[in-house]
Amino acid sequence: MGLRRGRWKAMFFSLRVRLLLLAAVAIAPLIAERIYTLEISRQDSIRLAEFRMLDLARQGADAQDDVLTSARAILKTVALSDITRKAGPACNEYAREVVQSAPGLSLFSVASPSGQVICSSQDAGVGLNISDRDYFRDSLRLRTSVVSGYFIGKISGRPHIALASPKLAADGSIEAILIASIDLNWLNRLMESLSLKNQATGFIVDKVGNIVARYPALGNPMGQDYVNLPVVQDIISRDFGATRNRGLNGTPSIFGFVRLHEANAWVALGVGEDELLRGINKQINNLYLALAIVILLILAGVNWGGELFVLKPIRLFVAKALRAGHGKFDGDPVHRNLPTEFVTLDAALDRMARKLDARETELQKANRHLNRLARTDALTGLENRRSFDTKLRECWRDSAQRHLDLAVLMIDVDWFKAYNDRHGHVEGDRCLQIIAAILKDRINLCPGGVAARYGGEEFVLLLPETTQAGADRLAQTIRSSIAAASTADTDGPAGTISVSIGLAHAIPGGKIESQELVERADAALYEAKAAGRDCVRSYVAESIRMAG
Ligand code: GH3
Ligand code: MG
Ligand code: MG
Repeated sequence: MGLRRGRWKAMFFSLRVRLLLLAAVAIAPLIAERIYTLEISRQDSIRLAEFRMLDLARQGADAQDDVLTSARAILKTVALSDITRKAGPACNEYAREVVQSAPGLSLFSVASPSGQVICSSQDAGVGLNISDRDYFRDSLRLRTSVVSGYFIGKISGRPHIALASPKLAADGSIEAILIASIDLNWLNRLMESLSLKNQATGFIVDKVGNIVARYPALGNPMGQDYVNLPVVQDIISRDFGATRNRGLNGTPSIFGFVRLHEANAWVALGVGEDELLRGINKQINNLYLALAIVILLILAGVNWGGELFVLKPIRLFVAKALRAGHGKFDGDPVHRNLPTEFVTLDAALDRMARKLDARETELQKANRHLNRLARTDALTGLENRRSFDTKLRECWRDSAQRHLDLAVLMIDVDWFKAYNDRHGHVEGDRCLQIIAAILKDRINLCPGGVAARYGGEEFVLLLPETTQAGADRLAQTIRSSIAAASTADTDGPAGTISVSIGLAHAIPGGKIESQELVERADAALYEAKAAGRDCVRSYVAESIRMAG
């Protein structure tokens, strides 16, 4: 879990992700600007549709006003005629002529003050009693023309508004009530005239929320109570305006509406938002798609460019640094055509690697020197005892594997304390150095041989691949060489130098350990001392063999 989080964290903080984030931040304003522009144009489309619908609703209201105005003028003219004196077919004929002469009029009737229709443009209307109609009663009572609300016509069964106007007799009494009915064909005509008629809906709603007319027509709309519909609530609360709401059929639409003052109703024209915004939405979707593609291309480009120009050089730098860390500095430039900063970095890396290389060489040299010092005896320059022990173990192992001879000579200066006492410590040191030089000369002739200062005035020689006899010969040679050197370099019998040598030989692989060979040589040396010094003794089994 922690590992996975760590990996995510590492990925998040990786250079590639940061580059991509940087690119995203850089293109964010572009995206924001595009989205803003698109949304603005969407809003513009909506606003435009609102204006358009409001304008159309106004045209509807104007159409109804026009019809009402012409109906009023006609009624005025008719009021001056002697129509009430005509009766029967002649009056009906006259009424039909009135309807034909006035576009928008659907019915013209004359009713007696008692409410009896005495003549009508439609024969079926004659004889009906309309005294229950409010507009009739109001016109009779107020002696003026009255516009009704919408109602369902008794003959047509369709919604109408009626204009009722009294015809006064010469004595001022009401002779008859003239009634012009206006149906809602103007709404149909208006809707039919619209270029977007297939997408448009329209309705007329009265103040109590009754839908008086509806386009496209869906049977008789009267009596359907839509008062609780938000769109209706919104419309009947204002004289005019625009509203975005679900229409009567539940489709989200944009409505423009205007109050039809005289009819106490509202005409509302709407267009489905989906239909209206289909074009712009498609455009917007296409733009979003294009935007997404552009963003992807930009990110892919940044990814590719970042890989090529940043990540790849960095990886090469890392590899170069790792190689330099392992001491494999080649000094080659990482890449041609690098960005300036990387060229500087490359040069810095080269300088660092070169310095590292130089330091490594120095360090190795110092290390070798220190190693040599750690292995060397300061006074004589021979190996020290620690180094001897190591080499003895190695040689022992090697000789055991290959079943080879191995001999050790333990050499101790005789009476050296006395020598020191006589000649002084400094001279004693010089003497030790002369002996060491002799041993070094000799050991150089023995391949793989080691000469070491074992401690104080005691030396030891390790002689691989050397038989007992060979070691013995060498011991004798050394002993006599030192004796000879002593005669040359020192004066007087008390000042002579001699050494006693103990020899031990073995073919490793048996039961004995390497250290035991040294102990045997030491035992042989002890024997040599006991035998009077300045001689060689060999360790052979349990006894020490005389050798010279
Ligand atoms: P033996 O023949 O029994 O070996 O007698 P010895 O005097 O050589 O033996 P002993 O062990 O009594 O004395 C060793 C002397 O070696 C004592 C010491 O002063 C001397 N010696 C040890 N190391 C050094 C050194 O580094 N320089 C000098 N000048 N003398 C040393
Ligand atoms: Mg000694
Ligand atoms: Mg001694």
